Amino acid sequence: MSHATVTVTDLAHSIRNVPDFPKPGIQFKDITPLLADPRLLSGAIDLMTAGFKPGDVDAVVGIDARGFIFAAAAAVKLKAGFIPVRKKGKLPYLTHEETYDLEYGSSTVAIHIDAVRPGSRILLLDDLLATGGTAEAAARLLEKIGANILQIGFLIELGFLKGRHRLHRFPVKSQITY
Ligand code: AMP
Repeated sequence: MSHATVTVTDLAHSIRNVPDFPKPGIQFKDITPLLADPRLLSGAIDLMTAGFKPGDVDAVVGIDARGFIFAAAAAVKLKAGFIPVRKKGKLPYLTHEETYDLEYGSSTVAIHIDAVRPGSRILLLDDLLATGGTAEAAARLLEKIGANILQIGFLIELGFLKGRHRLHRFPVKSQITY
C-alpha cells in the first residue's frame, strides 16, 4: 500500500472536464473520478483541512450537495460536528433563508435556526467556487446565527469568475484553480 503524499497535481489530473453540461457553454468539473479513488479522496480531505487540528473548529458546514461529501469527511477528521446548508424546502425544522442571483433566475439556501451556538468556530466547505453566490449566501446564513467563520474552502476555484471577490470578508482557500 502506498502512503505517498497526494499532491494538488494528482487531484487536478483526476478531475474530468465535461463540456456543455448541464447546458451549452458550461465546462462542468466532474469530481467523481477523484471521489472513487481512496488515495485521492483522503488526500483531498487532508489538503482541505490543512492548518486545522482536532479542537480548532466546532463544526464543518457543507453546502448542498457535493459540499456535504467534503464537509462530513473533514468533520470526522477534525473531530467536529457536521452542519448542512441545504436548498430551500429540504430542512424539516425552522430555518433562515438567503436568496441569491443565478445567471438565469435565483436560488435559495437554508439553515436550521439552531444549527450552531453563537460564536461557534466554523469551517465552510464546498466542492467548487464559481461566481461565489452560493458560498456568500451560505456565509450570510451562518452570520445570521452568530457563527464565526474561520475559513471558506473549496476543492476547485474557477478563478476567471472572480468569486473570491464576493467572499473578500473571509479567508478563502482553494486547492485547484482554473
Ligand atoms: P457559484 O454560486 O456560482 O459559485 O456556483 C457554485 C456552485 O455551483 C457549487 O456548489 C458547484 O457545485 C456548482 N458549479 C458551478 N459551476 C460549476 C462547474 N463548472 N462545474 C461543476 N460545478 C459547478
